[in-house]
Amino acid sequence: STTSVADYETVQVLGHGNGGTVYKVVHKKTSNVFALKVVHANSDPVMRRQIFREMEILRRTDSPFVVKCHDIFEKPGGDIAILMEYMDVGTLDSLSKNTDGGIFTEHTLANVARQILNGLNYLHTHKIIHRDIKPANLLVNKNMDVKIADFGVSKIMYRTLEACNSYVGTCAYMSPERFDPDSYGANYNGYSGDIWSLGLTMLELYMGHFPLLPAGQKPDWAALMCAICFGEAPSLPEGVSEEFRSFIECCLQKDSGKRWTASQLLSHPFCRQPEN
Ligand code: ATP
Ligand code: MG
Repeated sequence: STTSVADYETVQVLGHGNGGTVYKVVHKKTSNVFALKVVHANSDPVMRRQIFREMEILRRTDSPFVVKCHDIFEKPGGDIAILMEYMDVGTLDSLSKNTDGGIFTEHTLANVARQILNGLNYLHTHKIIHRDIKPANLLVNKNMDVKIADFGVSKIMYRTLEACNSYVGTCAYMSPERFDPDSYGANYNGYSGDIWSLGLTMLELYMGHFPLLPAGQKPDWAALMCAICFGEAPSLPEGVSEEFRSFIECCLQKDSGKRWTASQLLSHPFCRQPEN
């Protein structure tokens, strides 16, 4: 493109990731605000692979439910900067931690779930598995638009029968079949792992803490794997609607073959309630 990073002025740091930093920037000529993710891609081959995967996916996707990529700048030194739409409220994770649970009513959560499912339905239709759905990778703006971000460990399914059980993503949100494909992987295609992660995400937003461990307990790998593979699937506490309870059950089937798909879940009564 004819524009460059020099056309943008840094306003503040929005967040640090594994291999880079995300800044709030302003386009000097137009005063339009964007988010700029800068990664030092020459440092580490793993980071390099991640950022190229993310670039390829962001270039391909065009959905109101996936964070939009406006431009990609590659500097000669190896740094890569991805110019994205700015989501002014931040992540669902920070939003849930800064508001004492009060705003996540069932009705709000239904609107959140519907948007994430529209995003997942778009990605899955385009043969993309996100593999790291969690509150920290879902961005929100002041209209309460929710968009899927962070494609660092996502996968494009070029062949239909690719194995997809490698340990990528955040292991706390990983589905049972990714630990134990023999027990839970009937009709396994990889896409259903994103649905499990969505179910855990919705449960976490409602309960105010990560649902597989008692509140306050620090996750360790062994405890998590036991909880995911040997425990009952987590469920909602008393007092919620039947629609919400059933929705979570459809997402958190331990057997991947029984889990609903994104397009099926969009027709679930929980998602079909009126938006306002
Ligand atoms: P990690 O590996 O820790 O998940 P990452 O390197 O994958 O981080 P991102 O998750 O893409 O990086 O972004 C890091 C943080 O920057 C996010 O948690 C969020 O707070 C902020 N951020 C990223 N993209 C945007 C955006 N488009 N608008 C506003 N804030 C953003
Ligand atoms: Mg992230």
